[in-house]
Amino acid sequence: MALSITWLGHATFLLRSPGGKTILFDPWVTGNPASPESAKKLGPLDLILITHGHSDHTGDAVAIGRSSGAQTVAPFETAQWLGSKGLQNVTGMNPGGTLHALGLSITMVPAVHSSSVEEDGKIIYLGVATGYVVRFEDGLTIYFAGDTSIFGDMRLIGEMYQPSIAFLPIGDLYTMGPDQAAKACELLGVTQVVPMHYGTFPALTGTPAKLRELVEPKGIQVLELTPGETAS
Ligand code: ZN
Repeated sequence: MALSITWLGHATFLLRSPGGKTILFDPWVTGNPASPESAKKLGPLDLILITHGHSDHTGDAVAIGRSSGAQTVAPFETAQWLGSKGLQNVTGMNPGGTLHALGLSITMVPAVHSSSVEEDGKIIYLGVATGYVVRFEDGLTIYFAGDTSIFGDMRLIGEMYQPSIAFLPIGDLYTMGPDQAAKACELLGVTQVVPMHYGTFPALTGTPAKLRELVEPKGIQVLELTPGETAS
């Protein structure tokens, strides 16, 4: 089986691994203006990976975690907070750690971003923001950046894990825009990039067209999906 990638809008992705495992990243369906109808009925899942606490990445984590039966993985404090909201089967990690589960290797890596939720008008910080490197059953490796700026250690992630596909935010303002994402592709040494975290709100101005203009001359393919669309 080939890896299949379904974009569920914003930073929410459903992946089916080459070994048939289903993995949901950063679940946000309720109130997500880019969420397709298909995101409302996901069914059973094997794993949910959460990069940081912001509500546009965790909004439906508890509901989907409970209904899907999946194991959820999140940065330590975010995991504790999700647990306090009634999510069971949640594993906290910190950058540098690798979790071996379901035939996959899941390595948490740093991101340059904040991580918090707002409750009763107050901001609660939920530890660090992170990304993930996932090595699938057949050795294929992806890097899911989460929300982040570019940072120099993306070169180290490239050297150590040799991901072939990077999921990078390009919306700008809260994360990288296309310029930094293009340079990130170079540091990571990937052959394919999946843009995310753009177009959801007017403030997210980066576009896949701009990214394509910057990386295609270097032989890097931009996998541009519409919400609900699957590539495999
Ligand atoms: Zn964020």
